Amino acid sequence: MYICNMSHSHKFKPESLMMSYGFKPALSEGAIKSPIFQTSTFVFKSAEDGKAFFEVAYGLREKRKGEKLGLIYSRINNPDLEILENRLTLWDEAEDAAVFESGMAAISTVFLEFLKPGDLLLFSTPLYGGTDHFIHDFLHKIGVHTVAFKPGQNEATIRKIIEDTGKGDKLAMIFIETPANPTSALIDISLCKKIADDYSKENKVMVAVDNTYMGPLWQHPLKHGADFSLYSATKYIGGHSDVIAGACCGSKEVITRVKTLRTFLGNMAAPHTGWLLMRSLETLKVRMEQQALNGEKVAEFLNAHPKVEKVYYLGLIPEGTEEYAIYKKQYNSPGAMVSFDVKGGEEQAFRLLNSLKLIKLAVSLGGTESLAEHPATMTHAGVDPHHREEMHITEKLIRLSIGVENFNDIIWDLEQALQHV
Ligand SMILES: *Cc1c(COP(=O)(O)O)cnc(C)c1O
Repeated sequence: MYICNMSHSHKFKPESLMMSYGFKPALSEGAIKSPIFQTSTFVFKSAEDGKAFFEVAYGLREKRKGEKLGLIYSRINNPDLEILENRLTLWDEAEDAAVFESGMAAISTVFLEFLKPGDLLLFSTPLYGGTDHFIHDFLHKIGVHTVAFKPGQNEATIRKIIEDTGKGDKLAMIFIETPANPTSALIDISLCKKIADDYSKENKVMVAVDNTYMGPLWQHPLKHGADFSLYSATKYIGGHSDVIAGACCGSKEVITRVKTLRTFLGNMAAPHTGWLLMRSLETLKVRMEQQALNGEKVAEFLNAHPKVEKVYYLGLIPEGTEEYAIYKKQYNSPGAMVSFDVKGGEEQAFRLLNSLKLIKLAVSLGGTESLAEHPATMTHAGVDPHHREEMHITEKLIRLSIGVENFNDIIWDLEQALQHV
């Protein structure tokens, strides 16, 4: 692919490159946008070319200087995916990226490539339900040991949790979600990196961050030492609640391994999915900035409302706390996820949810439309009730994903729904 993000004197910002980066119109009849390369296979110019492409694809020899992987077959590579991957690297300043047909495909592929039977995985709680299920119902079955820690636990406690397993020497990966869903509790990525480095002996302990909640605009895990920045591209990257997809950013070395396993699992994104995500990326920044502005207004409104007990929102973390220090270090926006406790319990929360007129009652997040859901009985229904309580996921908690609507209309809707409580 053709890549140019530099004029000789100027480095363009990602949002300026999302319309053109990695695409050369001359290769597609002058089309300003990349066509959908809806093709399963690619015609080689010569038998020699075909041979050379396979040598590189199968790792039979190192790439020659300047040599690119030639187009072979759409399970291995496809122009829509390659252009999309090149664009995704810009936000995280990653060397490479891989896109998948879902966020779960990205996450499970990283687990499968970097964990083997006997290894220990340390993960933060609460995790996205699908990830939690994969860990408990699949990784355990293949003999991967796992142990959890919680946001707010300090370095000494996390080290003790690892030591108490008796398998510290087998630690292979630290997997975290920060901010934690749905209460936005924060985890210090550079602290995880420090612990990972201390446990790295012959094999490097990997740090993987599910960056779905805040990325790719508001948090950049690789800058804090993570090896992987993982996404459900279904959320902010896709942004229109009309596509399921996933992505993984990291160094050339780790992404090459991820892409190789992806080739054989066959869970890459389809060309049409790639094309849809490129279209979404053009407006990623304007969408997310509007969502964050709306989120701030909604959080302010809820925080002052007499029927609201508590608001969980990064912009309301008290200054001077340890969590505030992590917030300032790791995030460049409070984001657009706002959760809150309504006074009362399930009955009051349901009455509010059933009274909404503009905000839709649905799980998922990051789309252009505002969504509301009830974590205790919906996204987090599978979490052990005691554990749920500990994490403040109670019957009075409602999670909002704020969209791009006029914020006065979102607030009007919440106000009228709160009157029914
Ligand atoms: C949605 C989500 C996932 C799973 O992504 P899919 O695209 O649905 O497979 C993983 N992690 C987080 C935090 C999510 O919100």
